Amino acid sequence: MLTMKVLVLLQPRNLLRGVPRSWAHRLASLQSASQLPEKKLQALLFPLSALEGQLTGGFSIADLQLFEPSMGDIARAERLFCPSAKHKIDYFSSAVRMDHAPLIRQPEVCFIGRSNVGKSSLIRVLFSLAPEVEIRVSKTPGHTKKMNFFTVGKAFTLVDMPGYGYKAPKDFVEMVESYLETRRNLVRTFLLVDGAVGIQEADRVAIEMCNEFGLPFVIVMTKIDKSRQGTLLSNLLQVREVIRTHTVCCYPQPFLVSSTQYTGVHVLRCFIAHVTGNLPLSGDVTEKPTR
Ligand code: GDP
Repeated sequence: MLTMKVLVLLQPRNLLRGVPRSWAHRLASLQSASQLPEKKLQALLFPLSALEGQLTGGFSIADLQLFEPSMGDIARAERLFCPSAKHKIDYFSSAVRMDHAPLIRQPEVCFIGRSNVGKSSLIRVLFSLAPEVEIRVSKTPGHTKKMNFFTVGKAFTLVDMPGYGYKAPKDFVEMVESYLETRRNLVRTFLLVDGAVGIQEADRVAIEMCNEFGLPFVIVMTKIDKSRQGTLLSNLLQVREVIRTHTVCCYPQPFLVSSTQYTGVHVLRCFIAHVTGNLPLSGDVTEKPTR
């Protein structure tokens, strides 16, 4: 049993207490993050575990945390996000309409979410080991008006979709809906929900869209450093309930991330590597996908 003192230490908000801000980028790679004390490293990699003991209502983290790659898996996945002469990671192209989208054969993942949910920031930290990849991060809601395609060598493509909701571009529905409905190489959709506010009406519309098209998708809760522990927990329970009762092909585990503190980012890279078929997991992992 973890003592109260340790539980407090494991709270996401406290994760990097004492770590100077200028160090944040050093957490971008597993090797540098591994310099953290063991408990802080675990909380950085597996933020759901850091909530262990806080959940009530008859279920535990074991019910939720299904994707638990080994350190070796995380390290191998990370190599995919490190560019080399033979493995270029770069912005590829943009499109405002589906018929302008590049024809690509490799597996694709896309990131969707309400404007300001933290999508550009998350993509930027996912690619932080490839600093030449420029991801625009804006403080103005609705700045992403195009589908932006990024290639990760020949391994997969990542697509940054326009934000929806308040101030979404008018042609959002036409663009995103037709992308989700017709993109043949799309293997997983990452639907971002603000961890500080939980699922909003616009998110429910996006969930419905994924359900309607039978898309395998994953809910990622962003900005977990920003919310109070109680708020994060109640939003986590809300997300879990929506996944359980209102989704068809959603991965049962929500992923928790903070782009400012790199929390959950290493394991998210690993999940992307896995679902795009680039990382067979080693034996010491439990994964029970719905599809
Ligand atoms: P987008 O419109 O979904 O692409 O959102 P952005 O990535 O541009 O982020 C919107 C705002 O949220 C910006 O001011 C970011 O600095 C902030 N933000 C993004 N991610 C995080 C996070 O993990 N933690 C905190 N505290 N702020 C974040």
